[in-house]
Amino acid sequence: MAASEQTFIAIKPDGVQRGLIGPIISRFEQRGFKLAAIKLTSPGKAHLEAHYADLSEKPFFPSLIEYMNSGPICAMIWEGRDAVKTGRAILGATNPLASAPGTIRGDYAIDVGRNVCHGSDSVENAQKEIALWFKEGEAVSYKAAQFDWIYEKP
Ligand code: UDP
Ligand code: MG
Repeated sequence: MAASEQTFIAIKPDGVQRGLIGPIISRFEQRGFKLAAIKLTSPGKAHLEAHYADLSEKPFFPSLIEYMNSGPICAMIWEGRDAVKTGRAILGATNPLASAPGTIRGDYAIDVGRNVCHGSDSVENAQKEIALWFKEGEAVSYKAAQFDWIYEKP
């Protein structure tokens, strides 16, 4: 697993409105992951439907799109070894009532329809989501000052 694996993490409208951008970013920073791109965006219904296309047949799809379209979203790319799987672990289970304390959802959320954050579920989907949410060149490539203190080997 390369230290350059990237995942797409988004703070949903409830997380933004509840002032959780800082606390959520802190968890990824403190773990040692590197921020590669960030923007506050309201991409609109069609974009959100594309993001959640795999769920379009689910009964909760319309309310999910309405929720995601209800305010700005903080869209980010986080980079590091095993960033996709570890990102999901930092987020916690989809249903916050089943999320362990210490995870973002386990500490900040109760309802599944207000679970404050999104994280890619596979490396393949991470690449698709990054391509959907960010334009070419929006992700920044740099060596984090702490790199050699986080990784034994690159
Ligand atoms: N969701 C919902 N009701 C459900 C399942 C999911 O409202 O029964 C919402 C929830 O916000 C979740 C999103 O749909 O985060 C996407 O669902 P997915 O199964 O992909 O969960 P995630 O990958 O976000 O953990
Ligand atoms: Mg998902």
